[in-house]
Amino acid sequence: MTTTPVDIVLVRGDITEQTVDVIVNAANSSLLGGGGVDGAIHRRGGPEILEDCRRLRASHYGKGLATGRAVATTAGRLRAGHVIHTVGPVWSKEEDRSALLASCYGQSLALARELGAETVAFPAISTGIYGWPLDSGAGIAVRVARAHSGPPLKEIRFVLFDTEAYQAFERALQK
Ligand code: ADP
Repeated sequence: MTTTPVDIVLVRGDITEQTVDVIVNAANSSLLGGGGVDGAIHRRGGPEILEDCRRLRASHYGKGLATGRAVATTAGRLRAGHVIHTVGPVWSKEEDRSALLASCYGQSLALARELGAETVAFPAISTGIYGWPLDSGAGIAVRVARAHSGPPLKEIRFVLFDTEAYQAFERALQK
């Protein structure tokens, strides 16, 4: 059996405009919305996503979603089959939280594959409001994408909002 290698693709733009099987959201543990990517996904995706998140809070995730974990909902009006919500760690100078950031990418990819996804779009998790340095965040994202990229996945797309983030991911891919 031959396995097709997964394409790791960089796009500069808005993650809510992607047409993919799964869009990953840099959520917070409440699952009830926030700023940055989270705000944009709920705005563009419409109220169905929030309804699904509320149902999750009312059932298995009464205390919210722990850092490093991932969970799927409908994608509402987005051009995707599902949104996977994952909670990135807040950057800390004192404590190495890299394993938690790696877990966000790893759990999201595992869940996307369980859902049968061929294409997945990620933002640069934790590098916005949560303050993670871009080069470090990009390095972790690319390393985990390379390691967790089995079938049915065909494309892992990193959607970077600005030039700085795009260039950090370019540098990470060149390594
Ligand atoms: P976190 O709280 O995990 O840091 P943010 O949403 O604040 O998450 O930011 C994560 C990254 O996503 C940042 O690099 C930010 O510039 C970027 N970003 C913000 N909005 C969008 C968007 N609509 N599409 C893609 N990336 C975005």
